[in-house]
Amino acid sequence: MRHHKLALCKEHYLEWIPAQTARFIKKYWMFGPDERVLVAVSGGKDSLSLWDILWRLGYQVDGLYLGLGIDGEAGYSTESHRLTEKFAIERGLKLHVVDIQQEYGASIPMLAEKSRRGQGRPCSVCGVAKRHEMNRIARDFGYDVLATGHNLDDEVAVLFANSLAWSVDLLRRQEPVLHESDGLARKVKPLCRFYEKEMAAYALLRGIEYIYEECPFAIGSTSIYYKEMLNRLESDRPGAKLAYYVKFLESKKNGMFSPPTSQEFILTPCPQCGQPTSADGLCSFCKIVRKT
Ligand code: SF4
Repeated sequence: MRHHKLALCKEHYLEWIPAQTARFIKKYWMFGPDERVLVAVSGGKDSLSLWDILWRLGYQVDGLYLGLGIDGEAGYSTESHRLTEKFAIERGLKLHVVDIQQEYGASIPMLAEKSRRGQGRPCSVCGVAKRHEMNRIARDFGYDVLATGHNLDDEVAVLFANSLAWSVDLLRRQEPVLHESDGLARKVKPLCRFYEKEMAAYALLRGIEYIYEECPFAIGSTSIYYKEMLNRLESDRPGAKLAYYVKFLESKKNGMFSPPTSQEFILTPCPQCGQPTSADGLCSFCKIVRKT
């Protein structure tokens, strides 16, 4: 790891990653040992590694897999579901599975086809559905916190996109922890300071079987374009991505952006599902589902 001027053997690497994760959980006040954690797992290296790490650190942690119904030639959803179930069974962990089509009568590509948001690429509809369902399961099963496997490369690509557009509202909300509010679970990103390569190395060394293929709809996306560009920067200047992200968080702490206030986001319960929404009436997800 050139950015840390650190080289570790397998044994010490497998100790270092969980120890660093525990440090970030404490540093950013993500959650305590008595809180119940729900990890959103996609079958990919980051989310399965996160589940593995939190379990090894002794947290009370269950998984949530969302069946999006995105199959294509490689059978993306079928294979990612199989690998997630296998991971949970091997470790005796509890996994919640929600199949969007069974639950709402239409898969993500079908919902996207009917919605104005999803024309061309279903990612916007998919994002709304994932946020809705993760929050619903966390709320219904009484979890204190919802953890996702976003790594440093994900966070830096978002930071770069938001900086390019000077989307101040989005920059203010980009944090390793989004605090809970009425009806919304606390959301945390314990892997936000690990490079994608570091998580891939952890999954491989730990022997975690994960899905290598990206979702077919990720191909050609802007975030992948930004990631490739930022990788070129990183290869010329090792540590550039980590410094960009960490200095952003430090600048926020020192008052670069005022944090969002509760008055700015007045949320009311959706009349259909009861989840908080800033819309006047149905929440975005219920509006999408109603069109099918
Ligand atoms: Fe959903 Fe788009 Fe991600 Fe695929 S790439 S899982 S459609 S958000």
